[in-house]
Amino acid sequence: MPIEKIKQSVRDIPDFPQKGIIFKDITPILHDKDLFRISLELLAEKVKKVKPDYICGIESRGFIFGAALANILGLGFVPVRKPGKLPYDTYKKEYSLEYGTNSLEIHKDAFHKNAKVVLIDDLLATGGTAKAASWLIEQCGAKVEEIIFLIELSFLKGRSELVGYKTEAIITY
Ligand code: AMP
Repeated sequence: MPIEKIKQSVRDIPDFPQKGIIFKDITPILHDKDLFRISLELLAEKVKKVKPDYICGIESRGFIFGAALANILGLGFVPVRKPGKLPYDTYKKEYSLEYGTNSLEIHKDAFHKNAKVVLIDDLLATGGTAKAASWLIEQCGAKVEEIIFLIELSFLKGRSELVGYKTEAIITY
């Protein structure tokens, strides 16, 4: 069962980046050509159903999956980045994370009005990151058609932050 194999390959790193957090390390998936390909195929199946105009990925692991998916599906890719990284005019949103607070930015001219966007990230924890990214996409006048994660930590109840958005995940813990 490919999903089980992907799940088993995710490595738990206790107390990273701070005490009490069990970090889900996805680098073993990227390292294995079959697991990486299958992960992308499973994500692509979900994205295809939405027929979006763009894939938007959240820095930094959302870039790895999001950019590869955009390429596979023949779509444009829009990065949502950590503060101070995007060179042109940006919208900015502060949010809280499973471990601390942060902010994200998007280029103001990233989308045409009512563009259909699928938001991609590697992992849903408390949901603050995806909620902030969705807000940024909407600030640009685009629509978040679906938010798709490779991994969901369901015990952190991130979906409760994302009420009103269609949310999917390939693997759930
Ligand atoms: P959250 O805003 O709490 O849903 O956090 C999601 C973001 O933080 C994603 O971009 C993840 O890559 C990262 N993240 C949060 N918690 C973890 C975790 N336990 N393991 C790996 N990444 C995490």
